[in-house]
Amino acid sequence: MDILIPAERVPVADDVDICVVGGSCTGVFAALRAARLGARVALIEKQNRLGGVATCGLVGMWHSLYDFADQQPIIGGLTLETLERLDRRGAVSPFRDPQESRRGGVRFNTEELTLELDELVLEQPRIRAWLQTSYSRVLARGSGDLEAIVIENKSGRSAIRARVFIDASGDGVLCRDAGIAMTRVAHPQPPTACARFENWDSLGDIDIKALCDTYRETFPNLPCGYAWGMGVPSSAIRMLAGTRVMQCDCSDADAVTRAEFESRAQIRAFMDMLRVARPGNRLTLQALPSAVGIREGRHITPLRLLTGAEMLAGTRFADAIGNGTYPVDIHHDTDDTITFKRLDGTCKTFAANRLIHTERWLPEGKILPYYQFTLGCLIPDQAVNLISAGRMAGVDREAFGAIRVMVNLNQCGEAAGVAAWQALDGGQSMGAIDAAQTRALLARGGSIIL
Ligand SMILES: Cc1cc2nc3c(=O)[nH]c(=O)nc-3n(C[C@H](O)[C@H](O)[C@H](O)COP(=O)(O)OP(=O)(O)OC[C@H]3O[C@@H](n4cnc5c(N)ncnc54)[C@H](O)[C@@H]3O)c2cc1C
Repeated sequence: MDILIPAERVPVADDVDICVVGGSCTGVFAALRAARLGARVALIEKQNRLGGVATCGLVGMWHSLYDFADQQPIIGGLTLETLERLDRRGAVSPFRDPQESRRGGVRFNTEELTLELDELVLEQPRIRAWLQTSYSRVLARGSGDLEAIVIENKSGRSAIRARVFIDASGDGVLCRDAGIAMTRVAHPQPPTACARFENWDSLGDIDIKALCDTYRETFPNLPCGYAWGMGVPSSAIRMLAGTRVMQCDCSDADAVTRAEFESRAQIRAFMDMLRVARPGNRLTLQALPSAVGIREGRHITPLRLLTGAEMLAGTRFADAIGNGTYPVDIHHDTDDTITFKRLDGTCKTFAANRLIHTERWLPEGKILPYYQFTLGCLIPDQAVNLISAGRMAGVDREAFGAIRVMVNLNQCGEAAGVAAWQALDGGQSMGAIDAAQTRALLARGGSIIL
């Protein structure tokens, strides 16, 4: 059954050069790069803070900014700038990757990142940010050709007009509503709610996965699958990414509601189990995420699909806008396995946290120093004034497994901001953006362009 919503006149709340929907680091970095080039930018975020999964989702880990040999810096730009700012506040701690005996990356305090992103945005007079403001619909002249968007917040409903739009909503809602063909994958990587705990040490030495297996019949809501955790720098607090909601495509309202309830029930079962398995422990649940962490939803149909095969062949793309070394990391959504295809040439599958299969995908002794990703996979096919940045990128399953981490998506955000600024000039459509100029502007703004 449908109902008809009558046509309505709404005020134009702002008229800007570029409008960014979604204020994760991806969206913030897009807004900052465009504003630093001179554009007036509106940044729309439905939560009370910027940062997306990194802050609201409690995921405080960025991976290595160096090539696989741990020699050459391959990621700079706003990722490096933000980490340097956080470091000055003692909010980051580097870690080594035990699997790869190289720099693994950094852990950071997600609350400090929230404050840092506030400052980065407020320091930039050309950005007007709207928090607790949801994008709700587009006003389009045609497919991928937007005149304005409608937003909803405390002041009611209004519109934001812009000349170019960036979809950094994670789910690609702006692209979807703009008529861009979206792909639903058969097995999206499962969502996870992280949780933060105090007094983790009071549990003593524990093997979480073994305990969950032992107590699964008593506490049927216990999570299955891979679990990892990290200490919050300079604190006794520990974050655990241990839940997993199977066969759940969070681009659907019922599914994301199920993900919120089920993942939180898994955390409760975990606490209940520990009360029995470790009586007298002093573990305290300290924080839950304000939104479940979504790994994967819909993808855009891009100007040019990026495949894992070409990335892992070490292809140097003419429109490369970023570099990475994070492995192809696929959390499977039908059983408790996870596969890591690392740049050292190994491919390992774990069931829960136990290694069950190893093979090589590169000849013995070979490594891939780093891979690249492209501008073409961010531009929706036939889009006129719309570009995407984030996990909705037009990539296949394998490429997604690698680029989905934040140090990579941050670079996509920066590239989208620069490309959007280029599109303002001369009114060229997105597909006609000169990628060589994007790369030059990125490099001039501090990105490492190889
Ligand atoms: C549990 C988990 C652990 C992970 N671990 C790591 C890790 O250790 N390191 C790492 O680098 N990556 C990790 N990842 C992957 C990484 O965090 C995500 O892929 C990445 O953050 C996605 O970024 P994004 O900008 O595309 O989306 P998001 O971070 O989801 O941001 C989308 C933003 O858009 C906003 N938004 C959405 N719809 C609207 C709307 N209608 N109106 C206004 N705003 C809207 C959202 O509120 C959000 O702020 C993990 C992911 C998960 C789920």
